[in-house]
Amino acid sequence: MMKHSFPFTLLRGGTLYAPQPIGVKDLLIAGDRIARMGESIDIPKCLEVSVVDVSKKIVVPGFIDLHVHLIGGGGEAASASRVPEIPFTMLSKAGITTVVGTLGTDNLTRCPQALLAKVKALCAEGLSSYMYTGSYHLPSVTITGSVKGDIALVEEIVGVKVAISDHRSSQPAVAELARLASEARVGGMLGGKPGIVHVHVGEGSHGLDPILAVIEQTEIPIGQFLPTHVARSASLLKQGIEFVKQGGYIDITAPRDSLKWEEEILSIAQTLQESGIDLSRVTISSDGNGSLPQFDKKGALIGMATGDVASLGRTLKGLVKSGSLPLPQALQLITSNPANRLGLSAVKGHLWEGADADLVILDEDLRIDKVFAHGRLLVDVGEAVVRGTFE
Ligand SMILES: [Zn+2]
Repeated sequence: MMKHSFPFTLLRGGTLYAPQPIGVKDLLIAGDRIARMGESIDIPKCLEVSVVDVSKKIVVPGFIDLHVHLIGGGGEAASASRVPEIPFTMLSKAGITTVVGTLGTDNLTRCPQALLAKVKALCAEGLSSYMYTGSYHLPSVTITGSVKGDIALVEEIVGVKVAISDHRSSQPAVAELARLASEARVGGMLGGKPGIVHVHVGEGSHGLDPILAVIEQTEIPIGQFLPTHVARSASLLKQGIEFVKQGGYIDITAPRDSLKWEEEILSIAQTLQESGIDLSRVTISSDGNGSLPQFDKKGALIGMATGDVASLGRTLKGLVKSGSLPLPQALQLITSNPANRLGLSAVKGHLWEGADADLVILDEDLRIDKVFAHGRLLVDVGEAVVRGTFE
């Protein structure tokens, strides 16, 4: 698919986190895969190899962001508030090598067909891209005519999106949510996918209750759901922790850039640590390129911001630098955990031989230095060296 200047690249002497620490090692990329990891890998003279010195650098799996508004979210303050499509380099510079696109409130001027085209474009340009069908609303907007068909038959579709506990949702009844989850579950089975029901949880007081009602009243397992924005309030995070204790998974939106972002990260990390829950059931996503409208208590719009995919790397750095989490534990939230959740762990989210050569090289200060996707260098010294078609 991708053209390489060299089919072989040797990263010499980096400190590798898979995300668990595996020490100082060389890493050989062959084509689009990690071919070897080991001490002092010898290169046969007959091979042309690009050797990159990454001593004093940290080599980690490429970041996986499972909630990005690839064709732009927004629209809640009329047409001028529609967020534009995300450029390729905004993702690559943020260290994101695998992304899952989603629709939001607007399923009138945005549709899954347009999202699928963007997903295909990003794949062609060099990133691994997937999507959820549906949007906030029920009945779900789809490509094939059903959620089950979309998940089973469209390669890039890993699940379905829906909103609950939000004034912008369809206010789905428990039976409707159960029907949606059953479609996702069976579609996932037929297509060999996780069939995730990715649930936007709003600021409403009912929080995760609609999902808990489905689990109580039906045979749908708790693991079918992946609620997101779960750290948006202390009470919702508390409910999210109980959800994980019951065997569920939760997704947390990385705090957006503001004066309080470090404080927010610290408080979320502290709550998670104190709860003692299994952190492998937690993921962090950026909500990148979505609008973040602020409403007052009466539901009136009072402000507008957009989510930023760079919040993933910023959160990683914040968690580690503040001493909240050691690097491997913080890394898993944006690498191995989302890979496992998406059913991609054989090739994504881990450094192991045979995995896709999706790599982020961090400097000692945890700044993104280089990014490789499918073995191809996209970012060097923090700057994009490969651009999207129209950039
Ligand atoms: Zn969103």
